[in-house]
Amino acid sequence: MSEGTSTPTTTATTEDDTLRLAVTGATGRMGRAVLDAASDRADFSVVLAVARDPATETSADFPERIEPAADLESLLDEYSPDVLVDFTGPNSAIEYAERCADSGVAFVSGTTGFDDAQLERLCEASEGAPVLHASNFSRGVEALSGVLADVLEALPGYDVELTETHHNRKRDAPSGTANTLLDRIEATRESQGDAESKGGMTERTYGREGIQPRAEGEIGVHVRRAGDVRGEHEVLLAGNDEVLSLTHRAESRAVFAAGALDAARWLAGREPGSYDFREVLA
Ligand code: NAD
Repeated sequence: MSEGTSTPTTTATTEDDTLRLAVTGATGRMGRAVLDAASDRADFSVVLAVARDPATETSADFPERIEPAADLESLLDEYSPDVLVDFTGPNSAIEYAERCADSGVAFVSGTTGFDDAQLERLCEASEGAPVLHASNFSRGVEALSGVLADVLEALPGYDVELTETHHNRKRDAPSGTANTLLDRIEATRESQGDAESKGGMTERTYGREGIQPRAEGEIGVHVRRAGDVRGEHEVLLAGNDEVLSLTHRAESRAVFAAGALDAARWLAGREPGSYDFREVLA
C-alpha cells in the first residue's frame, strides 16, 4: 500500500443505495475528474483509487490514498467495490477488465484506442462481469450520434467531412468518438446505396495535401491537437448550395465523468454481458 497521503480512501460499509466505487488511472486527468465527481455525489463512496505507479505519480499532498495497479486482483478482494471506472490506456484497460471479470466487479471504461484483438478481449471479459465501454460519455455526443442517421438520410449525396480537436497530450488519433461517428456515417451511407452517393460506397480520407480533388463517396477526416481542448467534433454536410454543420464541444471533463458515473450506477448489479451507453440514457 502506498504511504504519504493525507486522506485514506474509505473502507467503511456503505449504505444500501451507495455504490462502492473503484477508479483506475486515478492520477490521470479523467481519473481526477471521476474522483471529484464521485465526491460530490451521495450515491457513490470511493473505496479504491488505483494508479500504475503511485510512488512517482502522486505527491505527499495528494488528496486520496492511491494503490498500485499491480495489486489490483487482491485490492478488488480486499475492498469489494461494486463497480470500477477506468480511464487509462488500452493495454491496462483490458487487464483491469479481466481482473474485474475474475472478481465479478462491474467494469465501466471510457478508455479509447483499442485494437480489434483488445476489443475481442473486452468482449470475453463481459462473460464474467457486466462491462460497459463508451468512447464518449457525454449526453450531447450520444444525441449527435442518434440524429446522424436521420440527417444523412435526409441529405443523400451531400459531402461529409468530420473534424475533431483535442488537447495536445492526446495519444490516439482520430479520437474514439470520431471513429464511432465515422462508423455510423459509413453504415448509413452504405445502407442508402443511392446513385448520388456512389452506390453507397464510402472511403475515409485522412487530411489532404497537394493535388487531391475530393472523390465521390469520400469522408474527409481531420484531426487537430492543440492546447487543452477537452474535445470538439464537427460533422459537416455540404451540397445543393447549402452547408449543415453539427458540432459538439465538451467544455469540461466533468461532463464525461458524470456520464461515466451514471453508467456505473446503471451497470452495477447487472448480469455479465456487454452494455452500451445508449441503454443507460434510454
Ligand atoms: P491521462 O494521460 O491524463 O491519464 C491516463 C491515466 O492512465 C494515468 O493515470 C496513467 O498513469 C494511466 N495509464 C496509462 N497507461 C497505463 C498503463 N499501461 N498501465 C497503467 N496505467 C496507465 O489521460 P486522460 O485524459 O485521463 O484520458 C485517459 C483515457 O480516457 C484516454 O484513452 C482518453 O482518450 C479517454 N477519454 C475518454 C473519454 C470518454 O468520454 N469516453 C473522455 C476523455 C478521455
